[in-house]
Amino acid sequence: MNKKKMPLNSHLLASYQESGFFLKNRNATKRIFAEEKKHRRCPDAYIYSRYRNPTVAAVEERLMEIEGAAWALLAQSGMAAIDIALSIFQRGPATRPWLFFSEIYGGTNSFIDLILRGRRGINVERFQAINGAYDLDLLQITLDKLKPELLFFEAVSNPMLIISDALPIIAMAKKRGIIVMVDNTFATPLLWRPLEDGADIVIHSATKYLAGHGNLTAGVVAGKRPDFARAAVEYRKWVGHMLGPDDALRLDGFLKTFAIRFEKQCANALKLANFLNNHKKIASVLYPGLPGHATHRQAKKLFKNRGYGAVITFDIGGADDKKKQKNCDIFIKELQNKIPLVPTLGDVDSILIPVEAIWGDRYPNPGMIRLSVGIESYEKLQTTIADALAAF
Ligand code: PLP
Repeated sequence: MNKKKMPLNSHLLASYQESGFFLKNRNATKRIFAEEKKHRRCPDAYIYSRYRNPTVAAVEERLMEIEGAAWALLAQSGMAAIDIALSIFQRGPATRPWLFFSEIYGGTNSFIDLILRGRRGINVERFQAINGAYDLDLLQITLDKLKPELLFFEAVSNPMLIISDALPIIAMAKKRGIIVMVDNTFATPLLWRPLEDGADIVIHSATKYLAGHGNLTAGVVAGKRPDFARAAVEYRKWVGHMLGPDDALRLDGFLKTFAIRFEKQCANALKLANFLNNHKKIASVLYPGLPGHATHRQAKKLFKNRGYGAVITFDIGGADDKKKQKNCDIFIKELQNKIPLVPTLGDVDSILIPVEAIWGDRYPNPGMIRLSVGIESYEKLQTTIADALAAF
């Protein structure tokens, strides 16, 4: 980056949009490429934006601080981050199995089945949740039996909001030399920082809370071990999962308000979950902050009263499935200009999805709504929902 071209009193990050960077001469080119081939960061030299870009690198520094990581890489989506994280452990066919907790984002599940198993022939196994929680004795037996190479789980699962009892799970895996990977999208580093508790790799769909405005798709993969960093840099470089500088710059701005946004979202969600839990038209509410939730104890232990996340999954009541579906449709229609049906989450505006319409094969309940709670005034939010519930 040619610093001389920057105004001296510029204090905000700039978007460096070069695809390729100016290199002084043949000798400098040789030296810089030689360093790059060893995946070393050459502090004064950038080569090509698919390899490394100063704007993206600056935002990665900010993410390292937020996540307590020694390295962080930005990718074009959460799925790209998951691909990077998992692919660096693939070294040809027939290695030990990779074990995934059963309750994870549907897209990750499809990636596992269609790409990892279907195309790459990786031996993948699932560890099933039972009655909305993971049994640690059973996990111990499973780890000893399968001897997996890596273990992947979500701190807070999408959409059932199961909290993994992460500390004993990580300890169990580490004792057996298993690599631990955590998708921390729903918990965010504000509730829990997995690397500080021994996880090897943490992943985010930054599309969700980190960006938080519904207008940016990005992913993060972060860790501590330098050998994993080198492998991830190499994979991202040659597969081309790099985030563009303009998106990185926008993410930088959004990250400045991430903590206050997420705090407000969690506070709103806790109050709203209690309200819904006591509402006669709601059959049941899944929210880890409610004492009746199957993994409330795990949430308290892991998140230490910092919050319980900002997604609530609940079940609209009805005499039978047909009636439930009808009530659900009325509810969604009543809300459409206030809390719209948008298939993402984590935005500053509250949004919702009918779970069965998207993942009906796994979650066939037609009354199930996943509500992503925003930063609106709580009173307004409650009134809006109460009005929609009064419509059926
Ligand atoms: N991980 C979780 C928990 C998610 O909910 C999602 C998307 O919904 C992803 C990963 C994938 O992220 P992206 O949509 O940014 O690729």
